[in-house]
Amino acid sequence: MDYKKALSNKIFKIIGQSADELNMDSYVIGGFVRDYILKRGTAKDIDIVAVGSGIELAEKVASKLPGKPQVSVFKNFGTAMVKHEDLELEFVGARKESYHRDSRKPVVENGTLEDDQKRRDFTINALAISLNEKTWGTLLDPFNGLEDLKNKLIRTPLEPGITYSDDPLRMMRAIRFATQLDFDIQLESLQAITAHKDRIKIISKERIVDELNKIMCCKKPSIGFSLLHKTELLEIILPELTALQGIEEIEGQRHKDNFWHTLEVVDNISLATDNLWLRWAALLHDIGKAPTKRFHKKIGWTFHGHEFVGSKMVYKLFKRLRMPLNDKMKYVQKLVLMSSRPIVLAEEFVTDSAVRRLIFDAGEHVDDLMTLCEADITTKNPKKQRRYKNNFKLVREKIEEVEERDRVRNFQPPITGEEIMQTFDLKPSKEIGIIKEAIKEAILEGEIPNEYNAAKEYMIIKGKSLGLVPINFPQGKKQ
Ligand code: ATP
Ligand code: MG
Repeated sequence: MDYKKALSNKIFKIIGQSADELNMDSYVIGGFVRDYILKRGTAKDIDIVAVGSGIELAEKVASKLPGKPQVSVFKNFGTAMVKHEDLELEFVGARKESYHRDSRKPVVENGTLEDDQKRRDFTINALAISLNEKTWGTLLDPFNGLEDLKNKLIRTPLEPGITYSDDPLRMMRAIRFATQLDFDIQLESLQAITAHKDRIKIISKERIVDELNKIMCCKKPSIGFSLLHKTELLEIILPELTALQGIEEIEGQRHKDNFWHTLEVVDNISLATDNLWLRWAALLHDIGKAPTKRFHKKIGWTFHGHEFVGSKMVYKLFKRLRMPLNDKMKYVQKLVLMSSRPIVLAEEFVTDSAVRRLIFDAGEHVDDLMTLCEADITTKNPKKQRRYKNNFKLVREKIEEVEERDRVRNFQPPITGEEIMQTFDLKPSKEIGIIKEAIKEAILEGEIPNEYNAAKEYMIIKGKSLGLVPINFPQGKKQ
């Protein structure tokens, strides 16, 4: 491979010239080089290492760029960042690192390129291409990263135990890269991760979730989750999921393994959507099954109320992992809570009112809910698979038909509280709520259409039944 081709962007010439002027060696390193060789397109964040001061090099480069962009200096890390067009250039001086046991913040000294490559997480991330004029385009690969790229292998430059224990975030990164690139993790690495798994506790929740989200965004997230499971990290990070593992048998009655089922559901949904939070809903849709599992002599295994319990667990899980407790969390909760609703519809004769209620309760998320339910079909029986899929197709058609007619998806009460107050000359009181609720119920039940006139008529009847008397109404008299 001609590595000069990787440097076709003019920026590399400018960096090389600047380094030559400063009498430094400089290289592009890490993800950019890896992704170029893997033909994954060229990364927009580019890491430059200088044998010397990275900050000085960044300043020189910025002074040569049109508009002289600002250099953001991170003194504590000895790094500097320059934005140029759509690129983010990150400059760092080559360094040698040693670690303390209780922190992932290393003691840093200046070092050679090779020192710097040694401190990188994986051999495939340690590949460097020279930018100086004399050595322009030369690949520096002291740890055979190129071969690991060919063999699709994640391997650490140093002894894996040291690499992972120094910075346990690398455990998550190894698994994330394995999932993103569809690579294997070298056996010694897997063993070292398992051996040092408890060190993950020194990593901030935010960083762990960052990596989890990257795994979630992959084509086949189950690769990552199986590796997290295999290395026993999952038990520490998401014990709600590992609790779903296993098949119990009593009196010849078995239930499915809900852990492996869940991973299949996540893979299925990832074929249908890029929505990260819908993928999270798939991951968590069954977590209530562990605490609600019971065995009954007559009916076998049940998980009564697991959807409700599961949705409560979503909040605790998000809180524990310091994930956002905002509308995203509520969305996941709602989908978990409603995850069985369309299944009931698909199994029975579907009435319009049941469909209206589903649309009303799911609101704008009704399509996502259907996507979740379709992904939930993991039966290996092709006949059943076809039948379930077809049933959901029918439910979707029915949803469309009912919604077109009744418009309950973003339900707005056809009669406002204001109007109820005026009609019956009421002050704010509980009757208003009762009448509003009765109108909504009548619409959902199909007793009246979702229209103003019908709702108004119904309001009068309901009000009268509560002993209220409408004013300015033909039969009514002002009290
Ligand atoms: P991507 O940007 O696609 O996630 P990347 O390899 O560029 O992949 P970055 O997080 O951008 O990853 O880091 C850039 C480079 O810095 C990596 O390629 C690697 O060489 C090094 N690096 C990043 N994080 C660590 C770490 N925790 N330990 C050791 N080296 C790391
Ligand atoms: Mg990067």
